Amino acid sequence: MNHDQSHALFARAQQLLPGGVNSPVRAFKSVGGEPFFVQRADGAWLFDVDGNRYIDYVGSWGPMIVGHNHPAVREAVQAAIQNGLSFGAPCPAEVAMAETITRLVPSCEMVRMVNSGTEATLSAIRLARGATGRNRIVKFEGCYHGHGDSFLVKAGSGMLTLGVPTSPGVPAGLSELTLTLSYNDADGATQLFEQYGNEIACLIIEPVVGNANCLPPRAGYLQHLRELCTQHGALLIFDEVMTGFRVALGGAQALYGVTPDLTTFGKIIGGGMPVGAYGGRRELMQQIAPAGPIYQAGTLSGNPVAMAAGLAMLELIQAPGFHDRLTAATHALCDGMEAAADAAGVALTTTRVGAMFGLFFTDQQVDTYAQAVACDTAAFNRFFHAMLERGVYLAPSAFEAGFMSAAHDEAVLAQTLDAAREAFKAVAA
Ligand code: PLP
Repeated sequence: MNHDQSHALFARAQQLLPGGVNSPVRAFKSVGGEPFFVQRADGAWLFDVDGNRYIDYVGSWGPMIVGHNHPAVREAVQAAIQNGLSFGAPCPAEVAMAETITRLVPSCEMVRMVNSGTEATLSAIRLARGATGRNRIVKFEGCYHGHGDSFLVKAGSGMLTLGVPTSPGVPAGLSELTLTLSYNDADGATQLFEQYGNEIACLIIEPVVGNANCLPPRAGYLQHLRELCTQHGALLIFDEVMTGFRVALGGAQALYGVTPDLTTFGKIIGGGMPVGAYGGRRELMQQIAPAGPIYQAGTLSGNPVAMAAGLAMLELIQAPGFHDRLTAATHALCDGMEAAADAAGVALTTTRVGAMFGLFFTDQQVDTYAQAVACDTAAFNRFFHAMLERGVYLAPSAFEAGFMSAAHDEAVLAQTLDAAREAFKAVAA
């Protein structure tokens, strides 16, 4: 493959953008090499500026569940822009969006639209702190909730210790308020709540982790967290920015039958435009300004063009059998990957939940962050590049989930598995 144009653009970009990108993972630091620059995208495919094309399992990191550049979404956007790009005043589409979200996710009796997943999670923990009058929050190692200060925190030494910043610029005084747990460790959560229960405003979790590769919850784990929160008067926040409308129409909370107090959304609800939202019980959401005293605002929030894109996408995914077909495609891909790896003598374990999947280079089952970290990332990196050379784009990091779309039809899956058979041989060599 020729990458001359991408290479030239990356050289220019590195002079002007930190690391040459506007979001770190795009720089390929984890897998090595240089990113390609995208000219256009269509269905399951990305086309780069050098004329190469790739089957895409990143899907803009989640939003593109119906495939890229879907005509219904594009036409909705084209229709909306005829009326202007932003009003800064209420518009009908934001009411339709709130009606759609609250109908599809009944734990959300009210919602507030924002412009990114980061804004949604920041706003949700402010609401939790304001509503409970408590300051501590609980998060999980390997979960990502955007780049808010309170989330860029890891566990200090020892199990039940206060968090320490993972980024310069995050005040230690703030990170100490973030307590960190191991995902899928029920006893650890029980112990933490025994020690800090009456100081905890909320526990925030990716119900299926998509930011440490893909880790599904153990049976009963989310229920256990629900019970702990209820028992100790803390709010349970499901960060469904990634899982929302993806692992099932009603998100992970519908799939596992656990009702959070607050939910955060992003990605799919924007149809590819910059959108986030948070929602929950009416009595909690009524505490947000101007209905209540907890402040949160946004110049472009509820933007009419973004709402039009999101509404069009949410319409498409309500088609009967939509998520069943995606789930079947995800299983077919993962089963095929395991068979291809096996044939090449490469140890591979996959995880799948709805239209999300994980590829782990290990012969062990994986459902914890520690296990994910212990996998052979060097083998993943070789596989990533071997796939890319064969026209298949996986997330450029061993710690990201893969995303299936409705545009990944049988032919696309067959082509992916042909590439994988070759790529696993290259990994084994
Ligand atoms: N929460 C989760 C679970 C995410 O996966 C992400 C982004 O990938 C975010 C929050 C942050 O969303 P954004 O990048 O739109 O700020």
